[in-house]
Amino acid sequence: MQVKCNVLDRQFQMYQQEYEEAALRVLRSGWYVLGNEVAQFEEEFAAFTGRNFCVGLNSGLDALILSVRALGIGAGDEVIVQSNTYIATVLGITENGATPVFVEPDVYFNLDASKIEEAITARTKAIMVVHLYGQASNMEPIMEIAKRHQLPVIEDCAQSHGACFNGKITGSFGISGCFSFYPTKNLGAFGDAGAVVTDDKAFADKIRMMRNYGSRVRYYNEIEGVNSRLDELQAALLRVKLKHLPELNQERNILAARYTKGICNKNIQLPKLRSHADSIYHQYVIQCSQREALQTYLQENGIQTQIHYPIPPHLAECYKDWGIPKGAFPIAEQYANEVLSLPIYTGMTEDEQQYVIDKLNAFRR
Ligand SMILES: *Cc1c(COP(=O)(O)O)cnc(C)c1O
Repeated sequence: MQVKCNVLDRQFQMYQQEYEEAALRVLRSGWYVLGNEVAQFEEEFAAFTGRNFCVGLNSGLDALILSVRALGIGAGDEVIVQSNTYIATVLGITENGATPVFVEPDVYFNLDASKIEEAITARTKAIMVVHLYGQASNMEPIMEIAKRHQLPVIEDCAQSHGACFNGKITGSFGISGCFSFYPTKNLGAFGDAGAVVTDDKAFADKIRMMRNYGSRVRYYNEIEGVNSRLDELQAALLRVKLKHLPELNQERNILAARYTKGICNKNIQLPKLRSHADSIYHQYVIQCSQREALQTYLQENGIQTQIHYPIPPHLAECYKDWGIPKGAFPIAEQYANEVLSLPIYTGMTEDEQQYVIDKLNAFRR
């Protein structure tokens, strides 16, 4: 049997008619950028996240970059961020000339709240939280620390659409919830797309201006902006998917529970779930000290897996000028060496999953 790490067309087929109707509606409308579909999606997604405002953007990266910029953070400023995140989180900081200050993750792969305060300096301007792999970060202590130090919190929710901490949805804690709708995300579009959600009107207005060349009124450019507009086609398709997101997340939880119940191998560590947090299982990430051998073995058996992520940002080639040595963030580096993301996707069959489980259980070092 062949099991891919991701299969995107099954979710398309599930709602094919709705997607096709939405796409044709846009194609026939004669209006393709910043129109009614974007406005509707923004309203619906703001409601989904329990926030007052949503601004649709080009990508999750732009949501991060523009959030940092809208807070006035730039050269000489520091932003606290976890050491084991995707490069985009860090680019959101460095694209503005600001400096990331890395803090190690906890056993749930999220920012370790107990290590934040020792990283705060006079230059710290924000805390960036990533709800990695779909599980909510430890938001209670994080928000408490942020409040005490009067630091804004930016949430990278690119992997956590709908995940909650203590019943409160991720993206609703900080000043800014940054979302990506890249096709593989739980709420994925059919191309690139992203959004910022917030309750702060001035912040929303600023991002809204920035995404459209810094103008509120066409050709009156108040600030130096960018082009980061969400297009009508993606917005219309996202509206379809958003309606079904609760059941899609539910399905992933069922798939994750099956892995958790079925995988039994002393060489494999299963993901831990934080109490009071839930996960939408954007990824189901196991740990194995013989990760390369396991991945090769699975590959030989037709099972595709992925590594999120093989190189932590502080060791990335693009940041080599920082001169941060290997060993500087041992937990992030250990995760980079041991994590493996199993196949998990909408429409994954029980047979496919059982095959993966059987092969995992038969793995010997
Ligand atoms: C996908 C992702 C992003 C970037 O989103 P894009 O839409 O690809 O720009 C940022 N942060 C995390 C954690 C992601 O997984």
